[in-house]
Amino acid sequence: MVTPVRSDIIGGELALCWSDGSEQFIPLKKLREECPCAWCKGEPDVAGPAHALPERPPFTPESFQLKVMEPIGGYGLRLTWGDGHSAGIYSYDYLRSL
Ligand SMILES: [Zn+2]
Repeated sequence: MVTPVRSDIIGGELALCWSDGSEQFIPLKKLREECPCAWCKGEPDVAGPAHALPERPPFTPESFQLKVMEPIGGYGLRLTWGDGHSAGIYSYDYLRSL
């Protein structure tokens, strides 16, 4: 599996160097907009619309500030954003697909 060997935040983009030698630059705004958590994706609860998650509040400038990157279980990164949102776990496969 290809894993990130380096990650840096450079001028509003997340720069990733992968173990296969490739480099990737993902704008933080896009990264936040593509947050894979159920809340951001607005996935309907399996129990039905009556149990739908509350609507996500609009993004603020803080929403696009990446505060913490935390490796999770060797397969992905948990990102914590300036507005406190940290539910999204971005698998390496998902990051590479962005
Ligand atoms: Zn999210």
